[in-house]
Amino acid sequence: MSIRFVRRALGTGLGLGLWAAACAPARAPAPGPVPEARGRAGFPPVPFVDGPLQLAIRYPLPGTPRPAVDSTFLFGSTGSGRARLWINGVEVPVAPNGAFLAFLPLPVDGVWRLEARRGRERATADVAYAPPPASPPRPVMPPVDSVFPEPRWVEVIATGDTLQGGFEGVPLYPTPTDAPDRVGQLPRGARLPVVGRRGRWYRLLWGDEVRWIPVEATLETVPPPRGPARWEAEPAPFGARLRLRGAGYAPFDVRPDGACLEVEVARPGLAVVAAATRSLPVRAAQPLMGDTLHTVWAFDLDFPVWGWRAFYDPGGDLVVDVRRPPAFDPAHPLHGLRIVLDPGHPPAGTIGPTGLTEADANLAVALATAQRLRAAGAEVLLTRTGPEPRASASDPSVELRARVAFALAAGADLYVSIHHNAFPDGTNPFVHEATEVYYYHSMGRPLATRLLDRLVQVTLLPPRGPLRRSLAVARLSWMPSVLTEAAYLMFPDVEAALRNPAFVDRLADAHARALEEAVREGWARP
Ligand SMILES: [Zn+2]
Repeated sequence: MSIRFVRRALGTGLGLGLWAAACAPARAPAPGPVPEARGRAGFPPVPFVDGPLQLAIRYPLPGTPRPAVDSTFLFGSTGSGRARLWINGVEVPVAPNGAFLAFLPLPVDGVWRLEARRGRERATADVAYAPPPASPPRPVMPPVDSVFPEPRWVEVIATGDTLQGGFEGVPLYPTPTDAPDRVGQLPRGARLPVVGRRGRWYRLLWGDEVRWIPVEATLETVPPPRGPARWEAEPAPFGARLRLRGAGYAPFDVRPDGACLEVEVARPGLAVVAAATRSLPVRAAQPLMGDTLHTVWAFDLDFPVWGWRAFYDPGGDLVVDVRRPPAFDPAHPLHGLRIVLDPGHPPAGTIGPTGLTEADANLAVALATAQRLRAAGAEVLLTRTGPEPRASASDPSVELRARVAFALAAGADLYVSIHHNAFPDGTNPFVHEATEVYYYHSMGRPLATRLLDRLVQVTLLPPRGPLRRSLAVARLSWMPSVLTEAAYLMFPDVEAALRNPAFVDRLADAHARALEEAVREGWARP
């Protein structure tokens, strides 16, 4: 698969070849033939372009830190489909539009030397890596360790999008360092006792383990009132509201699975008693397991979980709202649904060999998808409809939070983020190319599965997934939320296809059909 653009055998006659050899400067290769207009199955043929011979390297840009890999990819354009291209002496295939993608051993001196030729024309360009980044300093364990004679109570106040759980809060760390290991999560508003401090870290006892949270993510507070806690359940316009009365801001976790919702509550000595065993719409609630710290409750609902949100009310009760699937007409499943389409980026995002930005490609697919969904009766909202970001041109995390907030404020039923992919340095793109769809909460999986099925029918690439990954937009828990990566933009034929309105329409059609199928049959009734 490494030679992607089959070069037609040289068709020059013997006489012409001798003439060319006699008149051209030494080493001048024969001009590249006009490439065949034939692409890979799945992607339309790359259009022929024969512009000025001009080397434009899109990746890596000069000054990119040298990656710690033995081989990697680079891509860009020669400007002409008749050009031939050598990179550090190795000939690399050029697509009919002049674009190229190569995977080569990293040059010893960190400089890629490109030479393009078209007949007697010649263009050269070098691109040099910057020195590799200094490795980050090893985390230092703070030396001072104080133990509190009495546990102190703190409240989690962090608001950053730091969690893996669908709600805001702070991670739990196994050591008092900023090392990336995390072993759990504490929701914002949770109150818990801490038993010591080391530098800017509080120590707490978590079951049998010692855990740490950053001091700056907390405020000192008073102990919550003690007493038995009790589950209550009641119907709500959106589905059901579960309330743990007397929870006292106990840390929690929520895990949906079909029509079952598990809620874990962590507080030593918190005795939780069930509400009435049968209280609509909850069929049954039972403790699954428990130790001195954790109790896990399983709620058997009379509908599959479409979304959930959890928070403390001002008195410290834990409230878990569970959303039922929207009503739909099987003949017109999208009719009346509110769908947020999210064309990924800017800021950030990848780029194609001739300069198509991922943000533009994502927007084209999203706009075409919106058209189809509206024709099917859906109400479609886009997180952006033009090239501008929604909130921040420089901080991707601010931008992502703004998009998530937009979907929540809109009360969306479904969220689909549309992206096109890029590989990290060192990955051989010719071996690992695939169509991918991501989800995080289990509610997203039925939609992710159908999107992957439909998208690979267009791209004919190997399907990878659906993959469960903690992506900011996929952590939306109030609605099924997924992220598609139909193809990798660094391939010349993928980039050319994404400039082709007919291909964009096929991707849009795949998104729309998958949404329709998922709503009609994806979320099994209990
Ligand atoms: Zn992206």
